[in-house]
Amino acid sequence: MIDIHVHLYPDALAERTLEALAKTAGGGSSIPVYTDATATGTREKLAQWGVRLGVVMNIATSAHSMRKVNDFASETQGKGLLCFGSVHPEAKDAVEEIARIKNLGLHGVKLHPVYQGFAADDPKMGGIYEAIEKSGLPVTFHAGFDPAAPDSDFASPTRIAAVAKAYPSLQVIAAHLGGLHRWEEAEKTLLAMKNVYLDTAMLAMCWKRSKERLVSMIRTHGVKRVLFGSDCPYSSPEKEARLIREIGLREDEIEMILEENACGLLNIGRETLP
Ligand SMILES: [Zn+2]
Repeated sequence: MIDIHVHLYPDALAERTLEALAKTAGGGSSIPVYTDATATGTREKLAQWGVRLGVVMNIATSAHSMRKVNDFASETQGKGLLCFGSVHPEAKDAVEEIARIKNLGLHGVKLHPVYQGFAADDPKMGGIYEAIEKSGLPVTFHAGFDPAAPDSDFASPTRIAAVAKAYPSLQVIAAHLGGLHRWEEAEKTLLAMKNVYLDTAMLAMCWKRSKERLVSMIRTHGVKRVLFGSDCPYSSPEKEARLIREIGLREDEIEMILEENACGLLNIGRETLP
């Protein structure tokens, strides 16, 4: 398996960050977490769960931490982990940083409209999206609801669909099947767009929908543009992969979602996987 949606933090911050985010996610009472959110701890756990490659989503939460976040991402790569970098919309050198992300050998860009305080389709993002499109790197958006700002509309499926439409060569990954808790909107806006991939992170939360609806959503979008992700450590890849296997997809479709599609998108030969 390749898990396209993993979080971890620098050793000195891991414990504090994990505690704070687990509490936010649970609306005041902590949700369970599945790693210690360090690079070492995450590698160990991913290997135990049969994840051959974890793709780490780093987020630049401020303009001044942006370069540091990408340096950390670059240092973390290797031994079963690949990293996405991040740019902050308020950083004056955000566009230049895209080139640096590429030069550092990072594999994509992660943007979190809610944490980073911008509407995904804000025209001020144009230069950044053009630079990412030109770099050929994929961009992952947090999509839909986020417990840190429950009323924010910044990462709505509608806004992300507008970005994908405006930049047809940009490879957009919309996390959480196109929009956490906003799947009906995702179905109306993002679904079947050719330059949009959906990751399955937090599938456990869509579980309330019927299995048939999940399968139909995945097939309507196109199985080859659906990527397995867990949101580890906030969910466990083991549990999330089990759900993928249980919703009623065919074996070849499961294989594509769990590993093949990500190899294609990230240009990784399956035979080179650890
Ligand atoms: Zn996440």
